[in-house]
Amino acid sequence: MGIREVREIGDEILTKQCKDVPKMTLRTKILIGDMLDTMYEKNGVGLAAPQVGVLKKIVVIDVGEGPIVLINPEIVETFGEQTGEEGCLSVPGKWGIVTRPEKVKVRAFNQDMEPFEMEGEGLLARAFCHEIDHLRGELYVDKAEDGLHDVSEQYEDEDDTEETEE
Ligand code: ZN
Repeated sequence: MGIREVREIGDEILTKQCKDVPKMTLRTKILIGDMLDTMYEKNGVGLAAPQVGVLKKIVVIDVGEGPIVLINPEIVETFGEQTGEEGCLSVPGKWGIVTRPEKVKVRAFNQDMEPFEMEGEGLLARAFCHEIDHLRGELYVDKAEDGLHDVSEQYEDEDDTEETEE
């Protein structure tokens, strides 16, 4: 277990396509443990493997309901729409307004490489979309509807807004 360095925007690795995980190995288990540790250490709600410099299709998420690990995830269905604030541990100190589906169904493998499906709404649906985008080398900054804002700006405008970084 350990904290890994989070790659930041401008690092080419964040723009690359990730590869499927063919089987679970000790090395991959350690990576997943480190990704969870790093996400919690940085107060993020999600983290994708390329953010720690590994081009594998692995995502960890915790929106406050416990850790979720997605291996080789795919979005299979989306419903509705939500528009709201989004941030990213790879784009520190910034946030933007992004429209995402309100509800998302994902198909993935767990740490035992067993397939499962899961539905998420609201923040969890947003996290699924944001993290799976990372696996294709996409950052939310290219989807932000009104450009990027500084976090300090957010705190002045809305005191009760929760900051989420993925
Ligand atoms: Zn992110």
